[in-house]
Amino acid sequence: MGKATGFLEFRRATPADNPPALRIESFAEFHNHMDVEKLRIQCARCMDCGVPFCHTGLAPDKGGIGCPLNNLIPEWNDLVYKGNIPEAYRRLSKTSNFPEFTGRVCPALCEGSCTAGLILEPVAIKNAEVHIIDYMYEHNLIKPYVPQTRTGKTVAVAGAGPAGLAAADTLNKLGHSVTVYERDDRVGGLLMYGIPNMKLDKKIIDRRVNLMKEEGVQFVTNTEITDLGELRGRFDAVVLSTGARKPRPLSVQGSDLSGVYYAVDFLKAATKSYLDSSAEHIDCSDKNVIVVGGGDTGTDCVATSIRLGARSVTQLEIMDKLPEKRNDRNPWPTFPRVLKTDYGQEEAITKFGGDPRVYLTTIEKITGTDGKVTHVHTTGVKFENGRFTPVGETTAREADIVLIAMGFVGAEDSIKGVPLSQRGVISTKKDAVNTVDTELAGVFAAGDARRGQSLVVWAIREGRDAAFACDKYLQN
Ligand SMILES: Cc1cc2nc3c(=O)[nH]c(=O)nc-3n(C[C@H](O)[C@H](O)[C@H](O)COP(=O)(O)OP(=O)(O)OC[C@H]3O[C@@H](n4cnc5c(N)ncnc54)[C@H](O)[C@@H]3O)c2cc1C
Ligand code: SF4
Repeated sequence: MGKATGFLEFRRATPADNPPALRIESFAEFHNHMDVEKLRIQCARCMDCGVPFCHTGLAPDKGGIGCPLNNLIPEWNDLVYKGNIPEAYRRLSKTSNFPEFTGRVCPALCEGSCTAGLILEPVAIKNAEVHIIDYMYEHNLIKPYVPQTRTGKTVAVAGAGPAGLAAADTLNKLGHSVTVYERDDRVGGLLMYGIPNMKLDKKIIDRRVNLMKEEGVQFVTNTEITDLGELRGRFDAVVLSTGARKPRPLSVQGSDLSGVYYAVDFLKAATKSYLDSSAEHIDCSDKNVIVVGGGDTGTDCVATSIRLGARSVTQLEIMDKLPEKRNDRNPWPTFPRVLKTDYGQEEAITKFGGDPRVYLTTIEKITGTDGKVTHVHTTGVKFENGRFTPVGETTAREADIVLIAMGFVGAEDSIKGVPLSQRGVISTKKDAVNTVDTELAGVFAAGDARRGQSLVVWAIREGRDAAFACDKYLQN
C-alpha cells in the first residue's frame, strides 16, 4: 500500500467529462483523463485489502463481483502512486490484453466491489487503468512482441470482436499461427460497430489491431465463415467468437413500417458514415426519435440520435426506475444496480430540457402513413404476479424513427456445424460459466457467442480462457 492513511485523507475525485452542450456537437470522445498528480492521490486511497474484492471476478449470474479479468488492482494502484507506470503496466498486462478498451467502456465491476465503497466511495480504478495504458502508448513504450519460435500449429478465429481479438492475441504470443476471419469490413466487433465513437474512438482499436498485425496475427475481413467442417479441415484448431447479435424483435402491429430499425443497425450505420464519408447514416435531422429500451444500448441510441440532429428523443422502458441506493437484494460487493443518469440522458436533458426516459411503459402498436411510421402508441404497465399487465390510457406519440434496443436473444445460427444450446448460444461441454470447450475436438467458443450478450471485459476473459484451452489441446 503506497500511503497507509490515503483512504482517510483523500476523497474520490474523477475528471469532469466535456459538458453535454459541447460534446453533442461531434462524435469525439468526451471522457477526460486525470492529471497524473491527482491520479496518484486517488491511487493512494487504495488500502491493499487482505481480501481485495475488486479483483475477484465472481458471481457473474448475480451481477458480478470484482474484475472478471482478475486484474491485479491493488498492485498497480500502489505502483501508480509511486509513479512507476511501466511496472504498473507490466502487472496490468499479465491479466489484460486490451486495457485501453476496458479503461474506456467497462462499467467497472471492480469499483462496485471496492471495500472503500462500503463506507465512502470506491477507488478510481478505471481512471488508473486507462492512464497506465495510454501513458505507455504516448511514450512509445508498447513494442510489438513477436514470438522467437513458432509451434507450427495453426488456429482460425471466427469473429473479430473483443473475444476473438483476445484469443488471437494470446494464442499468437504463445507461438501459434493465428488467422482471424471477420464478416465486417473492419475488425473490432461491437467495439467498432456497436459502441459509438464518443465512448471509444475507433483509432484506439486500429492502433491495437496494427500492433497485432506487426506481431504476426493475420486478419481476413469481409469474410463470413459459413461451414465449421471446412474450417476445421484447414486449421489445427478453431475458436468461435461470433457474438450474440440476434436481436429481440418488437412483435407489435406496425413494426415492419419504414423508419423502424434495430439499434445495432442504426449505430453501425452512424459509425460507418463517421469513418467513411461515402457511407450513409440513418437521417435523424429534425425527426422525432423513439428508442425502445432503457438499457445501455438504448442510451447509445439516444446520444447518437442527438448528434444526428433529432428534434426530440424519447426512451421507453418497461421496467420501473432503479432505486437511488443499493437495496437488500443487491448488497456490496455485488455490482450496484442503482439509478444512473448516463451520458445520453445528460445530453437529452441539456438539449431538450428533460430526462428522455419514460418508465413502466410498453408499445401497443405502431402506425404510419404511406408505409412510413408516424406514431407509436404506448400504454402504462404494472408488474404483478411475475408479469406485466397494461394499465391506463393509450398515448399516441409522434415518431419518425423507432429504434429497437430490447436486447438480444442469442447467437446467429449462420455457421453450419456449430451446435447451439437451448439458450440459443454455442453449447460448450457443461454450458457452465467459463467452460470454453465444445464437444468437438479442437473447437472452442468464447464471448457473447457462448455466454449471451454481456460485457467487453467478459469477452476478453473468455477469449483468454479459450486461448489457454486451445493451447493445451494443441500441445496435447
Ligand atoms: C450498442 C452496444 C453498446 C455496448 N456498450 C458496451 C459498453 O459500453 N461496455 C461493455 O463492456 N459492453 C458493451 N456492450 C457489450 C459488448 O460490446 C459485447 O459484450 C462484446 O462486444 C462481445 O464481444 P464478442 O467478441 O463476444 O462479440 P462481438 O463484439 O459481437 O463480435 C463478434 C464478431 O463476429 C463477427 N461474426 C459473426 N458471425 C461471423 C461469421 N460467421 N464469420 C465471421 N465473422 C462473424 C461479427 O461481425 C462481429 O464482428 C455493448 C453492446 C452493444 C450492442
Ligand atoms: S477493494 Fe478497493 S481498496 Fe481494496 S485493494 Fe481493491 S481497489 Fe484497493
